[in-house]
Amino acid sequence: LQKNPLTYEGGGAVLTDGTEVQLLANIGNAQDAEKAAAAHADGVGLFRTEFLFLDREDEPSVEEQTTAYAEVFSHFPGQKVVVRTIDAGADKPLPFLTDADEPNPALGVRAYRTSWEKRSVLTNQLDAIAAAAKASEATVWVMAPMISTVEDTEDFASMCRERDLAPAGIMVETPSAAITADRQLAECDFASIGTNDLTQYTMAADRQLGSLAHLNNPWQPAVLALVQATCTGARRAGGDPEAFGAKANKPVGVCGEAAGDPGLAVVLVGLGVNSLSMTPRSLPTVAKVLSTVTLEQAKELAAKAVAARTAEEGRDAVRAGLPILG
Ligand code: PEP
Ligand code: MG
Repeated sequence: LQKNPLTYEGGGAVLTDGTEVQLLANIGNAQDAEKAAAAHADGVGLFRTEFLFLDREDEPSVEEQTTAYAEVFSHFPGQKVVVRTIDAGADKPLPFLTDADEPNPALGVRAYRTSWEKRSVLTNQLDAIAAAAKASEATVWVMAPMISTVEDTEDFASMCRERDLAPAGIMVETPSAAITADRQLAECDFASIGTNDLTQYTMAADRQLGSLAHLNNPWQPAVLALVQATCTGARRAGGDPEAFGAKANKPVGVCGEAAGDPGLAVVLVGLGVNSLSMTPRSLPTVAKVLSTVTLEQAKELAAKAVAARTAEEGRDAVRAGLPILG
């Protein structure tokens, strides 16, 4: 696979049986947006907005934010851009928003939780996203990071509704959000699984510690079981056409690093994920590997990965079922 340089021409990955999977890009600023568009990403599955806030003493104004978001959106006319609201705290402290002295910052008042005490930073950001979205030809989706309870989701969804921001969704980064996905998704429009944090919190292993890299591995069967739980919850919340009634499934994407690993991409699709968002560099390989399987085969490989005894055994079983990786 590595020997033949691959390209990606856009339009999503197409499995052997015709099933389509949206392939999106992770970006952090307008420069990344330009590169993602040049790489034919079908839109943006994760726009990390921290770039505007980091290394500043004060919050950027709504006008400054609106201009910056509009510039990013301008690269994706007619396409989806999923904006993640500010993810401060833990490894991204902000003097005007987070408490630098928390004993366990990864388990502290980070991301969406900062809005409990200082609501205006989030509401100002949502005002700016709404203004930029209104003036743009991109289809803007909004989501909040580090959601753990249904109350969190209800609160965020109502802030979005007040601003006519839709669809509004949540990141599934905590085991609690994954386990209660059916109830979470009854209150919002979509979920995007952040496998980097979901792995850290499932395995109780700091993602910044190199010595814990073997635990911070999204092939860990426990992590994949939570991805599966999220997809099952989404089907239940949306009304699975086969199992639960007439309405369409609520979309579930993955925007953590796992989405860019071709073997895991197959597993994620087999578990029921509808879109994968990754660094644009990974798009060609992921599209190619997905094109070698049917949805049924992806489901079978996913079942093996979830049921594996260890991360390594799961990965080996999936690779053995994907000759293109061999
Ligand atoms: C994640 O946690 O998987 C994610 C995509 O967010 P970040 O890496 O920015 O925490
Ligand atoms: Mg995260």
